[in-house]
Parts: sequence; C-alpha cells; structure tokens
Amino acid sequence: MKIFKTALSLRSYILEHKRQNKTIGFVPTMGCLHAGHFSLIRRACKENDLVVLSIFVNPIQFGPREDYKSYPRNFSRDLYYARKYGVDVLYYPSVKEIYKKDFSTYIDIEGLSSKLCGKSRPGHFKGVATVCAKLFSATLPDIAYFGRKDLQQAVIIKRMVRDLGIPVRIKVLPIVRERSGLAMSSRNIYLKPERREQAAKIYHALQEANNVFKKGCTDVSAVKSLVRDKLKKITGSKIDYIEIVDLKNLQPLNKVHPGSALVVALWVDKVRLIDNIIF
Ligand code: AMP
Repeated sequence: MKIFKTALSLRSYILEHKRQNKTIGFVPTMGCLHAGHFSLIRRACKENDLVVLSIFVNPIQFGPREDYKSYPRNFSRDLYYARKYGVDVLYYPSVKEIYKKDFSTYIDIEGLSSKLCGKSRPGHFKGVATVCAKLFSATLPDIAYFGRKDLQQAVIIKRMVRDLGIPVRIKVLPIVRERSGLAMSSRNIYLKPERREQAAKIYHALQEANNVFKKGCTDVSAVKSLVRDKLKKITGSKIDYIEIVDLKNLQPLNKVHPGSALVVALWVDKVRLIDNIIF
C-alpha cells in the first residue's frame, strides 16, 4: 500500500494509473476505521482497479465546542485494516496540507446544509463539502463511496457534484450495524457499556416505525410520536430531531411514502448519535 501526504504526489500517481485506463475508487474517512468503513472499502475494491482511502480529521467541520481534539485517532490500527481490506493507496494529509495559510474558499450547499444536523451543527456541512471537494480534486476518483449512516452528508455531496459538475459518481451504501442494531460509528467508543446497550433501542424504534408504516399508517405525526416515545425511554437521552423527509431534498413530508427517510439525532449522555431508515 502506497501512502501519500500531499495532493500533488497523490495526483501524479493517480494520473499515471488513469493513463493506463485504470478506474479509481475513493473512500473518504476520518479514520478510526470500523466495519462501516470496511464495507465501503470492500465495495470499492470490487468495482475499481485502484482504491484510495483517505484519513483526515477535518477541523473545519467541527464546531468550537465539538470534539475535534478528542476525536478518536488510531493510525497504526487503521494502517493494519487498510492493508487487510486491500486499499492500494492511503491519502493521509496534514491539516496544513489541506488548509494552506490564508485558505478562504468554502462550499456551501444552500438550503440542504442548514436543515436537520445543520441546525445544531452550524458550519458542519460547509466544512464537509469543502473538504470533499478538495479530496476529490486530489484523488480524481471515478466513484466515491459514502455510507447512508450520514444520510444528509450523502445528499449534500450528491448535490455538490451535480451543481459543480465534478466528474465523480457518488455511491451510497447501507448502514452497517453492531450486533445489537446500533449503527457503527467511531464515536460509539465514547459510550459507557450500559449506555451502548441502551443506544441499541434507537434502531428498535426505527424498525417499529417501519412496521407501523407497513401495516398502513402513513401519518407523519403518529409515526414521529411513536419514535419520540421510544427514544425518550433511552437512559441519558436528549432528542435533537426526529423527521420524516424526502430523500432527494430532505424536505419534511406530510405523509410517509415508500422511499421516505426517517432520520433521527439524539444525545446519549454527551455522545451525539444519528441513525435513519428508509420506509
Ligand atoms: P467517518 O469516518 O465517520 O467520516 O465516515 C466515513 C464514511 O464512512 C462516511 O461516508 C460514513 O457515512 C461511512 N460510515 C460511517 N459509519 C458507517 C456505518 N455504520 N455504515 C456504513 N457506512 C458508514
């Protein structure tokens, strides 16, 4: 596995492969890799000649009171797994490499960025979109792989590449869950074991909402209040939002349809968790 720390060196390596008509698959991450990331890497390996994984904890997507400094990092473990799952190229830039002195260009996906998670994390998606655009321009991927766990992020990145005409295909893969049902996340390690057990109830609440829908209930407020009641019972929980939205534009819906998304965010103790299902 090749490791690059600068966009310039990475891009020249990528261009060599492009000249040989090789396809490039790209998996952007913040590291502390888990089975959710592995599923993206595995798919990228299946569908491309060369797979690039990036590990970059992006400071500008964290708010001033968020966990940038304490975000879990474990580079040697990540290296081991990147090799194990067949990554060809690791892009591991420093903050200075990505944000040179006087960096002042940001991408804001108006409307989409301020909804849902954007409400309680102002500036978060501006940071995500900006770094993804930079990573795409360094990696020149044919396909970039994202997880549906971060549904709003995936919708925003799709919109960005469409609006800016960035020639990359965005593929969004299913949520990988722990055995309990809790969506895998690097932040799960912050949860005390008893809270981690409680947090599994998030998925149970989403599943129950889907069951009620399957039985014929399309009433948004009824489904949301069922989910709210369940989430409230999680010890240490504080709900941020429960919404039923259109997958394309994240607009709240009046009725639940097949293909609508139920998205939730909540704190369990001090850990912010997100999850979703598609009806
Ligand atoms: P992160 O390192 O948290 O920024 O995530 C990197 C990529 O992995 C993003 O596209 C996430 O949506 C995806 N991802 C994170 N957790 C999961 C999961 N449990 N299942 C599937 N994809 C995930």
